[in-house]
Amino acid sequence: MLTNYVYKLRPNVSQFKKMDNWLDMLRSSYNWSLADRIAQYNQQFIQGDYCDLRTKAEACPITCFVSKNGATGEPWKNSKFDKDGKLKNPRRSAGDIQITALPELKKARPWFGEIDSTVMQQNVKRLDVAYKNFFEGRGFPTFKNRSNFTSFTFAVGMKIQGNKIYLPKLGWMRFHNSRQIPHGFTIKTATVRKRQNGWYVSVRIEDKSVPDYIPKSLNEVQSVIGCDLGLTKLIHLSDRHQIDNPRFATNKKTRCALKIRQRCVNRKKKGSKNRKKAAIRIGKLYNKITNKRQAYLWNAANKIVSRQVDAIGLENLNVAGMLKRCRVKVDEKTGRFLKNGQSRKKALNRSISDASWTELTSKIEYLAAKQGKVVIKVNPRNSSCECRNCGHIDKLNRDRERFICTQCGHIEHSDIGAAKTIRDRALSMVHGDSVKPEPRGSKRLKNCKEISARSLSKRVEPGNLSNQDIKAAMS
Ligand SMILES: [Zn+2]
Repeated sequence: MLTNYVYKLRPNVSQFKKMDNWLDMLRSSYNWSLADRIAQYNQQFIQGDYCDLRTKAEACPITCFVSKNGATGEPWKNSKFDKDGKLKNPRRSAGDIQITALPELKKARPWFGEIDSTVMQQNVKRLDVAYKNFFEGRGFPTFKNRSNFTSFTFAVGMKIQGNKIYLPKLGWMRFHNSRQIPHGFTIKTATVRKRQNGWYVSVRIEDKSVPDYIPKSLNEVQSVIGCDLGLTKLIHLSDRHQIDNPRFATNKKTRCALKIRQRCVNRKKKGSKNRKKAAIRIGKLYNKITNKRQAYLWNAANKIVSRQVDAIGLENLNVAGMLKRCRVKVDEKTGRFLKNGQSRKKALNRSISDASWTELTSKIEYLAAKQGKVVIKVNPRNSSCECRNCGHIDKLNRDRERFICTQCGHIEHSDIGAAKTIRDRALSMVHGDSVKPEPRGSKRLKNCKEISARSLSKRVEPGNLSNQDIKAAMS
């Protein structure tokens, strides 16, 4: 099993300075490597694999400067021959080449020698990860500045004794040993991170003899609880319980405090010490908000997961999509921008990101896995405007918290109704069509995107489940 433990570090003055220094150097190395890869790509894009377009001589380290640092690399090194006598890895990846170039960097700039070599290597690998993300469709890697480059990773040589941790080239450093590393676990990596209120270390530990948490399979699931995520109340459960939304960052008091402190920063002279101090003050406030929210979300997630159920039904929300800005409207005649409702949406966006549904969902998933429970994500489409009595779908059904069906007059609390609908959808995914409470099941299943999960589970015949079980699950 692989987990992370986070501790707060207590560096002494010289270690403090050293780590700050390291961050600056590593950042410049990262940015240089990124610039190198971009330049390399541009060169290759124009010249292809050739060193010289006229003679079509292929790029090689002896003849061509292109391959010196970039992705073409030294074709002979590190390559193995397979059975047919062909080169297995005729090319090394850009990351490998940049790692082998690190000793040269140290020769040219001796002050890089004070950084541990595995930290430098991990720094390059970080860029590999950024590129991998890019190829999977998530934005191109960006150049880093002081505010978004705050960590470095050790790969070997860390030791822990009591309340001291040994980090290569930094030496023994004290830390707050807030929880013991369980017996048998070995340290894989250690990531040191700078936060507003000090330095932290995240230790990755592994014990192969401890098995991972195994969740129940879908066909063992008997009872499900449905959760409807919202803003007025954070969570509505299908058993009629509600969990408040404290709005840690968007309540009136905090909003006011943030505004005042931000104004404090803006009024100070740029580059002055007082401005820095004010910036630290606002950073601490943000930190406090985050800590409060984290604690509350853990608590809420625990409340849900600790219920006597086998599975938890959640909405499959696209939060990033909800946070998108409104499309720009332009007047065709004059070319001027028209109102597009963004200013009105801004407050809503803030509330949504303050509620951090994604964070809550991941916490629920983690805790559920720990207790062997399953999380079933269902399509939330129309869950709050579908009548639970007759199935009529209409936006007019809902008037804020009240739900009155325009067709049959069914009255219910709208969010609790939605939670129940989510529970039913999750149940229908578990059991297939056979144990549907209502005949309009097929229509609902169309709404469920993830029918694949249904095919995984065995089809449960109505006879296998006693009526009491079904009733218990329904109520
Ligand atoms: Zn109705």
